[in-house]
Amino acid sequence: MTEVLIAGAGPTGLTLACDLARRGIAVRVVEKAARHATASRAKTIQPRTLEVADDLGVAERLLGLGAVHVPTRHYDRARVVSEAVEAAVGVDPAPGFPYPAPLWLAQPQFEAVLRDRLGELGGRVEPDREVLTVGQDADAVTVTVRTATGIEEIRARYVVGCDGGRSVVRREAGLELHGTRYGRHRWYLGDLRVDGLDRHCQHVWMSPEDGILSLFPLPGTDVFQFQASIPAGDENPAEPSPELYRRIFAERAGVPGVELHDAGWTSLYQINVCMVDRYRAGRVFLAGDAAHIHSPGGGQGMNTGVQDAYNLGWKLAAVLVGADPALLDSYEQERLPVARVVLDDSTARMHMVMRAAGDGDGSHAQRHLTDDFTTGLTIAYPESALSHRGSGPRRRVDAGDRAPDARYTDSAGRPARLFDLFRGPQWTLLAFGGTEVRPAGSLHVHAIDDEQVRRAYDVTDDELILVRPDGYLAGRGEAALDVWRRTQDVSAATHP
Ligand SMILES: Cc1cc2nc3c(=O)[nH]c(=O)nc-3n(C[C@H](O)[C@H](O)[C@H](O)COP(=O)(O)OP(=O)(O)OC[C@H]3O[C@@H](n4cnc5c(N)ncnc54)[C@H](O)[C@@H]3O)c2cc1C
Repeated sequence: MTEVLIAGAGPTGLTLACDLARRGIAVRVVEKAARHATASRAKTIQPRTLEVADDLGVAERLLGLGAVHVPTRHYDRARVVSEAVEAAVGVDPAPGFPYPAPLWLAQPQFEAVLRDRLGELGGRVEPDREVLTVGQDADAVTVTVRTATGIEEIRARYVVGCDGGRSVVRREAGLELHGTRYGRHRWYLGDLRVDGLDRHCQHVWMSPEDGILSLFPLPGTDVFQFQASIPAGDENPAEPSPELYRRIFAERAGVPGVELHDAGWTSLYQINVCMVDRYRAGRVFLAGDAAHIHSPGGGQGMNTGVQDAYNLGWKLAAVLVGADPALLDSYEQERLPVARVVLDDSTARMHMVMRAAGDGDGSHAQRHLTDDFTTGLTIAYPESALSHRGSGPRRRVDAGDRAPDARYTDSAGRPARLFDLFRGPQWTLLAFGGTEVRPAGSLHVHAIDDEQVRRAYDVTDDELILVRPDGYLAGRGEAALDVWRRTQDVSAATHP
């Protein structure tokens, strides 16, 4: 029987598939579309997502394809007003943050890298297979899938709906989206080839009358992503088309010598902000846009989906090899509050940007788009049942927090990085000073005695620090090991 069936091969489904495949889980990924999507859509890979990519072994490939620190050039019609890299983008470079800045790369390129990685891990996407119905009993889930030649019935221990905003899995599981449709926040979007504009920067026009127009050069392609806000008073906006976009460009920008050509995608995008109030119905889970749909403010949608998948993958794998299924409850407990905060944040950013654009203040609007929060690096699960908080005062890095990277010198005198120890599907125990613990199965133990790592983790005495497979601190001290024990095969005695 299939262990995990993933519906949908967008960034969320592909991340989950890679994570499960590298853990040896029998996973199938069914995708409704017969061909890979080429429309650019998301174009920001946030720093925390790059850390996930590092763990999955694809960060270098992504960095090789994308661009960081893309400047923004603001115009008043054809006149250049300013050009700068926004100072607030990303976090300040520091050893704890190996990827301080967002990477600009369009979603299809990101998906292609994940698909290649899945292939390397022995998995694959099955295209032209659409989930139609989902039913479950105590032991498994039964899914009917439309194929190119008929109907296939698949039995799986668990099903994860990564099938986007119109999720069939969500509907079939009886889960519902609740939220707000922002009828007056509408955008024309598209991919265009543009003659006569530099590709080293983003080009932005803002005015109180027209709103925002931007052309963003998509790295690794010859295409720009076109975005133009539709004035709130426009009751019946025209159908999107390259001709319309050329007219909008002429009216709002009118830069001589610039020509726009069709590159295959145009869309009228209305902002909906909504989410489910449960991430799970029995053996069926939701992740990504199937569970929460954001405004584009802050570039969070795709990144939040990747983080969902990364949170769920190791838990599903642990339960499939014998851990107490109660571990799966922590998925909703940890990720639902994050989705709620991210939704509120991106909605607030959208309003601020639209207000600033209404004032014609381009760089002010831009400043609202990214900061420490949007990097994803501050996401934490302090209230989770998997976070073991000791009785002492809160430490600078404590249970539920992201485990920072740190550079150190290993016992052979070589330069090393903590992220090299964390990379892979295992738990990591950092043993400071003389504390001795035996490694066991999924628990890797590393004796560390390095001042930089002590400082990074706020360690003064001999101490143990337990890091989860998804790079969060489970806790400190012997007692934290109970968190790891709870994720082990309940029928086996593998405790160190
Ligand atoms: C113009 C635009 C700009 C955006 N900018 C950003 C940004 O800068 N940063 C950011 O983080 N996010 C951004 N987003 C949001 C981002 O694109 C989504 O959040 C992201 O695609 C969600 O990924 P997903 O894998 O959850 O869902 P999707 O990408 O929607 O993937 C779902 C997949 O499931 C498949 N599917 C659907 N139904 C079925 C079925 N019944 N059976 C099998 N397969 C099915 C679909 O074909 C699709 O391949 C933007 C979106 C748009 C439209």
